[in-house]
Amino acid sequence: MTPGETTGSWDNALEAKQEDFEAWGMNARCSAPASHPRTVGELNGALTATRNAGTSAGLRGAGCSYGDAALNTDGCIVDFRHWNRIVSFDEQTGVMVAEPGVTIEQVWHEALPHGWWPPVVPGTMFPTLGGCLAMNIHGKNNFQAGTIGRHVRSFDLMLADGTVKTCSEEANKDLFHAAIGGFGMLGAFTRIELQLKQVHSGDLEVQGTACANLTEMVAHFEEHWETCDYLVGWVDAFGGGRGLIHQAWYPGQGVDTNTAATLQRSHQELPPRFLGFIPRSWMWCGMWCFMHKPGMRFVNAIKYRLGRRQSGRARYRQPLVGFSFLLDYVPHWKYAYKPGAFIQYQAFVPERNAIATFEAQLRLCKEHGIIPFLGVLKKHLPDPFLMTHAVNGYSLALDLPLARGGRNRVWKLAHAMDDVVLDAGGRFYLAKDSTLTPEGFKTAYPPENLARFLELKRALDPDGLFQTDLSRRLLEPLG
Ligand SMILES: Cc1cc2nc3c(=O)[nH]c(=O)nc-3n(C[C@H](O)[C@H](O)[C@H](O)COP(=O)(O)OP(=O)(O)OC[C@H]3O[C@@H](n4cnc5c(N)ncnc54)[C@H](O)[C@@H]3O)c2cc1C
Repeated sequence: MTPGETTGSWDNALEAKQEDFEAWGMNARCSAPASHPRTVGELNGALTATRNAGTSAGLRGAGCSYGDAALNTDGCIVDFRHWNRIVSFDEQTGVMVAEPGVTIEQVWHEALPHGWWPPVVPGTMFPTLGGCLAMNIHGKNNFQAGTIGRHVRSFDLMLADGTVKTCSEEANKDLFHAAIGGFGMLGAFTRIELQLKQVHSGDLEVQGTACANLTEMVAHFEEHWETCDYLVGWVDAFGGGRGLIHQAWYPGQGVDTNTAATLQRSHQELPPRFLGFIPRSWMWCGMWCFMHKPGMRFVNAIKYRLGRRQSGRARYRQPLVGFSFLLDYVPHWKYAYKPGAFIQYQAFVPERNAIATFEAQLRLCKEHGIIPFLGVLKKHLPDPFLMTHAVNGYSLALDLPLARGGRNRVWKLAHAMDDVVLDAGGRFYLAKDSTLTPEGFKTAYPPENLARFLELKRALDPDGLFQTDLSRRLLEPLG
């Protein structure tokens, strides 16, 4: 497609139907005209119409970013969810070519029966590949597998002028490393070629360990990370940072004697009813009863005690889907926060400062009277992407409840934590962010990376076609 060419059916951005969109954490929303392209021509039509209307295009996948990354209050939304065919999948090599709206769920549905698994997955299976590349997602295996960008063989990217560029480690390498993790600012992914990971079982071997505090947790990670495939820590913020670590291994070839069965979807999917009679779709109502400080203190204490009883026992088998997407088993679990909402605050801190920083964050939470309902610890390694969030160290993700009218208090806490994290040389993850300031954003990234990103943005999108509420909050003030 050449600049200016349009074959799209969506001719006038301002005549498009107005739709409502929400941040995944229910902490922000917008109403905007939306297009739903299914082809390169339709996308070009939508972008041309947006340009002609003098407004901006906010790109949106499944809307699983916790904050304002996929909202565009002042412009239009381009919603990729319906552009979602798997174009090809090679069962021999594990290479998949997919449209941008294909979800992680579609990927494993197609690939797992043939012995392939997405190499990097987030904690939910519903994000689209376009959204995952734009944020350069990481999984519980970040220290082994890197971010998703490492497994992308190539992609096509539609730029603001309608040109489509094919990028890989060989072709347009600079753009390859900038658009992955570029939070939809440099162009729209229209085709993605991904290398999947070969697996010899639909199960993982899992072992749990209880730790009395963050120091023990990090020591455990350091001792084991080189010899396992996944490591994740659940942190009890009510219990001062004690927690449970789960480490997991892919069974080697021949270990699972029932591979044909474990690779099937039927082995992965949970029954629709909990305890045989409670529909899973109702489970969030049960959670709702505990969504206050005493309730969560109680739930966390029980979880820790049960985990401690299992601690150090022999490995057990768990389906890949159950281990990877535990929260998806409780549909709409976030509704348990209603009538409030929540934000997730995830800080990435170099190893040498990680424990002190996370302990300081938990102290600040206590001082501000806002205790995170959920804390998750992961280990990370740096990667070659321009706007990467990963550091050689650790991240702690904290779910902070946002009671009605409590916005100022939570933002104040987040800004106090920003100071601690930035002093420690830390970074943030835009897929989770709601609260960062432009100054904090600027300090978190190496100046040369940020300068190069802004330079690319000006060169490829001089009129600022691609915008979101997040980009207007963090990027625009930096020019
Ligand atoms: C329960 C839960 C658990 C999570 N766990 C993790 C985790 O463990 N690790 C992790 O890394 N993330 C995690 N996430 C965050 C999630 O993986 C990211 O926010 C991801 O980007 C969501 O993809 P999406 O399709 O929903 O994109 P959206 O949220 O809709 O958009 C994300 C970004 O991608 C851009 N974008 C969307 N489509 C395109 C496109 N075609 N071309 C260019 N840009 C595009 C948008 O403009 C936006 O900037 C989690 C989210 C949830 C809700």
